[in-house]
Amino acid sequence: MKLTDISGISPARAKALQESGVYTPADLIRFFPRTYLDRRNIMKIVRLQGSGEKVTVMGTVSAAGESGFGRKKRLEAVLQDETGQLKAVWFKGISYFRKTIKKGEFYAFFGTVKRFGRYLSMAHPEVEQLSSTESGAQNGNPSFAAIIPVYPGNQFFKNTYITSGLLRKWVLTVLDRIAIPEFLPDALLSRFGYPERHTAFRHIHAPETPEQHQKALERFKFEELFLFELSVVTLKKEVFDKAPGPEMMETRPLTSRFFNEVLPFELTDGQKSTLGEIKRDIRSGRQMNRLLQGDVGSGKTVVAIGAMLMAIDSGYQAVMMAPTEILAEQHYHSLSEWLEPLGVGIRLLVGNQKKVLREDILTDISGGKADIVVGTHAIIQDSTRFHRLGMAIIDEQHRFGVAQRALLREKGENPHILVMSATPIPRSLAMTLYSDLDMSIIRDLPPGRKEIVTRVVREPEREKLHRFLTEQLQEGGQVYVVYPLIEESEAMDLKNATEGFDQIRIEFPDFRVGLLHGRMSSPEKEQVMRDFKDNRIQILVSTTVIEVGVNVPNASVMVVEHAERFGLSQLHQLRGRIGRGARQSYCVLMADVKQSREARSRLATMQQTGDGFRIAEADLKLRGPGDFLGTRQSGLPEFRHADILSDQYLLEIAKNTALELLDADPGLGHPDHSALKKVFLPYLEEKKKFFRMS
Ligand code: ADP
Ligand code: MG
Repeated sequence: MKLTDISGISPARAKALQESGVYTPADLIRFFPRTYLDRRNIMKIVRLQGSGEKVTVMGTVSAAGESGFGRKKRLEAVLQDETGQLKAVWFKGISYFRKTIKKGEFYAFFGTVKRFGRYLSMAHPEVEQLSSTESGAQNGNPSFAAIIPVYPGNQFFKNTYITSGLLRKWVLTVLDRIAIPEFLPDALLSRFGYPERHTAFRHIHAPETPEQHQKALERFKFEELFLFELSVVTLKKEVFDKAPGPEMMETRPLTSRFFNEVLPFELTDGQKSTLGEIKRDIRSGRQMNRLLQGDVGSGKTVVAIGAMLMAIDSGYQAVMMAPTEILAEQHYHSLSEWLEPLGVGIRLLVGNQKKVLREDILTDISGGKADIVVGTHAIIQDSTRFHRLGMAIIDEQHRFGVAQRALLREKGENPHILVMSATPIPRSLAMTLYSDLDMSIIRDLPPGRKEIVTRVVREPEREKLHRFLTEQLQEGGQVYVVYPLIEESEAMDLKNATEGFDQIRIEFPDFRVGLLHGRMSSPEKEQVMRDFKDNRIQILVSTTVIEVGVNVPNASVMVVEHAERFGLSQLHQLRGRIGRGARQSYCVLMADVKQSREARSRLATMQQTGDGFRIAEADLKLRGPGDFLGTRQSGLPEFRHADILSDQYLLEIAKNTALELLDADPGLGHPDHSALKKVFLPYLEEKKKFFRMS
């Protein structure tokens, strides 16, 4: 059956449908209604107040016509039900509505009702034309549909005249004429009380009750979440069961010397339990794929070092990849300080190193002289060859994508992988985005940290800020001043920071001020960071390059300029640069007097809480999953019907059901599962491509 076999679909209309992705009759029924008109919620005209209430009314158009001239030209229509009448008016789109609104036809209008003298009036209502069967109530027909689906209709099929009413008719024709096979096992359908697939489509397009529609929609959500979870479980098995170097087992000399002799502090409970989980993963003889979540400052680096030493103790190399050069360099320095006395060979690999130096480093990596390689994306370039990579750490995972993780994995033979993130990811997102990872969480911070005092300060109070900063500096504190990244223009971004730098140098002549931004060369950046760390610079003016990971414990004040332009998670990351030492720390959020409601809510959240998990939840609510994760996170699976935030419970059910089913029937070989298998295998292939696992 082709689209044009359906009566009413002309070649022109078929073309319009195709341009919107509807190629076949089957596509047509996958095109779900935008909303529903429930007749039980429809207002009788006699009951309308005309005080600006938003309602739906239904009736016959008894008159329609244009009036007025020029700018006053308008289209008016009178809608009449058995209780009264109402006037609808359009000032825009007159020619379109003149075609749509026909005298004697039956319609539903939705809009805001106002009273003008004796008239009830609706300006620019949304219009839904109903067929004579749909208007059955009018004709005394008892079997009229109580619930009428409304399709995107004209807005969707931009240039061609396809109304929601036409779509309704066509969809019903298709449902009558094509067979839709079921693929969920009967046992599941009956367990969850889901309608069969064909029936479910009918309940979406022509529900008799809201409950029927609800159940059908849940079925479609479940269906996609279930396939997703089946693939997750399958893929996890495939990776994990390829055993990596099994001899990486016991805690050996380096690891114990590091924790007993070198590390100047006790591990926190969170650090201990995470290291325990890592050790268990390694002992299992299967590849580790673990996500470590811990708030900023929770001490993830030490855990990473522990994991890397376990690998080195067993004759493997380890790698640690960070998203910025500044962070990579910082890791390089602290690792060198702690590990070189133990005889561990560490190399730094970043983008713009001199060619000769780079060649040397690459040789050390491929020859095995480098036990640990610290660096940026440069590590995953083609030219890097490892001698024997056994452990890969990705720091600040949220700055990388899925593809980069896969590339790092390919640098060794199934090295263990530990990804670390300071942006806590709410469970529903973690379950989908990092579905292939096991999860460790550090919930505690090292002892002795003082809570950071956070204040929002408006422009008129800048004087006070100046006095406060002077005090703090005189007491020996150090200050960060951060300017926002302006997405559209890196140059602009730079200009802000540079001007700020000049200004601050004038305002604080007694202190050394440094400038840091992404355009500086590596050695320049490194020099500035070292000067700040050693307190040769007291005020560091910077763009957001210091956002992640940077650790200067004596710095206790952070001023964020234009704080209203930052996202919540980013503010939290920035604030995480302070509160790392013995001093009481302060975070000052400089904000414009004028702010959007969302910005105000963000700043208020920052003042109220320092808990990264709470901030992440709030951020997710404000921005939704896509923006929350940012463009780099291409890893979020797209669901057509399910929403991973509001349907989390269903995701959990789908996950448990998938585990259970694959446990009972690993290859889906049972005859009851053959239809499922046929749908699942191609789906799995797509997923494999995505994770680059095939
Ligand atoms: P993050 O989790 O944000 O990467 P870091 O690993 O940079 O945190 O650690 C933050 C600071 O806390 C560092 O100065 C680190 O040396 C210190 N630190 C880590 N673990 C502990 C601990 N158990 N006790 C005291 N200080 C610790
Ligand atoms: Mg860190």
